[in-house]
Amino acid sequence: MRGKLIEFRNVSFRYTEELPWVLKDCSFEIYENEEVAIIGHNGSGKSTVAKLMNGLLFPEEGAIFINGQQVTQESIWEIRKDVGMVFQNPDNQFVGTTVQDDVAFGMENRGIPRAEMVKRIDDTLSAVGMLDYLMTEPHKLSGGQKQRVAIASVLAIFPQVLILDEATAMLDPKGRTEIMETITSVQEKHQLSLITITHDLQEVVRAERVIVMNEGEIWDEATPREIFAKRAELRKIGLDVPFIANLSDALLKAGVSITNEPLN
Ligand code: ADP
Repeated sequence: MRGKLIEFRNVSFRYTEELPWVLKDCSFEIYENEEVAIIGHNGSGKSTVAKLMNGLLFPEEGAIFINGQQVTQESIWEIRKDVGMVFQNPDNQFVGTTVQDDVAFGMENRGIPRAEMVKRIDDTLSAVGMLDYLMTEPHKLSGGQKQRVAIASVLAIFPQVLILDEATAMLDPKGRTEIMETITSVQEKHQLSLITITHDLQEVVRAERVIVMNEGEIWDEATPREIFAKRAELRKIGLDVPFIANLSDALLKAGVSITNEPLN
């Protein structure tokens, strides 16, 4: 049986006391080596969930556990090494003047010895297919290449879970395909859980489990196929016809059999 990696236990959150609750009594679990997609309409709370997993925010009510340890202001530095996060805008994630410096940066902060750093830079950049760009300045890369380097920088810390928060949203189809291929190869080489917050159907279909959010609540958790079967209800919570029709196509393309009743 797979161990429990992340647990949200009755988590509620609001950005300030004057603002409404954006997460309401959310409970769910993520397991080791599991691939989960989180979907939901804009503003349903997906990014807030991601930020709580990484200690960029803390719950006002309830608790979050990573590897059984509660996420708090005190424990977050220890916990953060297990949780890698890649965001939507590749340009906001670079700190180094070359690709190599960028991957080294997170490791330097953690005091990893030089020889080990060199090895990890090689390993992670080759895992994402970017070893030839070691000395390239990040701003010279395409969007897809930047996101691949961002993934390498995170992998170099040896996280247990990789969270991609709309990491393919700003990319063209070619960049998106690059990232999907990268994710597949990375999962083969590194044993990690993957959480994709996404509108990208390819990412939803490949997930083992989909968590659907609606207005700050966990609306459902199921396989992509089971989620598609609820398409009438999904439309009511803002996951509209194009989304679910495309999900149907993506499932069929992935060889998952679904009942093909009309969408209306
Ligand atoms: P999603 O990722 O599903 O689009 P978010 O987690 O970004 O949703 O947002 C959930 C809700 O929290 C939205 O109503 C959004 O306007 C609000 N929100 C997000 N970030 C902030 C912030 N920094 N300050 C105040 N409200 C915010």
